[in-house]
Amino acid sequence: MIEKIIRYCQINGITVSQEQAQLLNQYMTYMLEYNTHTNLTAITDPDQFVMKHFVDSLALLEEIGEIKAGMTLIDIGSGAGLPGIPLSIMLPELQVTMVEATNKKVTFINSAVEKLGLTNAKAVWGRAEELSGPGKPMREAYDISVGRAVASLPVMVEYCSPFTKVGGRMLAMKGPKTDMEPPYEKAAKALNLKQLSFKEIELKWEDPQQDTICRQIYSFRKVEKLSSKYPRKTGKAVKEPIC
Ligand code: SAM
Repeated sequence: MIEKIIRYCQINGITVSQEQAQLLNQYMTYMLEYNTHTNLTAITDPDQFVMKHFVDSLALLEEIGEIKAGMTLIDIGSGAGLPGIPLSIMLPELQVTMVEATNKKVTFINSAVEKLGLTNAKAVWGRAEELSGPGKPMREAYDISVGRAVASLPVMVEYCSPFTKVGGRMLAMKGPKTDMEPPYEKAAKALNLKQLSFKEIELKWEDPQQDTICRQIYSFRKVEKLSSKYPRKTGKAVKEPIC
């Protein structure tokens, strides 16, 4: 499996060392074993897992770009640690914090972090809206905020911007573009985010006959300190999105 992880990543332009692939494999094995008693992922086929969890999460590396020692990243709605754990394996100088509302998932992440010996990753239990309010230590404290498959974009900007430093970036990763995606521009503006880019990417399988996996990555810059009215109280971003 280790060679397969390296190959699947390489086909998609991601260079993974033997040691990093070993850690990714250890994480996958542990998650699939844990999944037999605690629901963490619907993807249990190892080939699908490598593509849809690892290659997919690591597609963010290009957007993240160069990392300086001590830079911080927060992964909102991390689930079982995606993309946070693969990113912390690939970027050991980056300090990764994963926020997750479901306690049993946080327990899994922290146990995986310990098992893998990752010293630059940790998970925090709580709702994004509650951890990032005015005066909270996590508010506007991270260089980069990310979220994969958590909520619609107007909701994601309200979850992520309050954690992002002024001058920092927010990256949101979503599945294939649908006509159902609501407009997000008004919400991004209200949350002091300026859009930098939008990319549609296609993850390729080893067999070129197999359908590619389409993903979208939205990138924003936090341009100004956030008004204390954001984030609104828990659940409001979902019930009454800004746009
Ligand atoms: N990012 C992971 C991935 O790509 O596999 C998990 C995606 S899962 C569909 C969404 C996760 O976001 C769930 O585990 C859920 O508990 C978490 N979540 C949703 N709203 C949240 C919030 N307001 N604060 C923290 N976590 C939240």
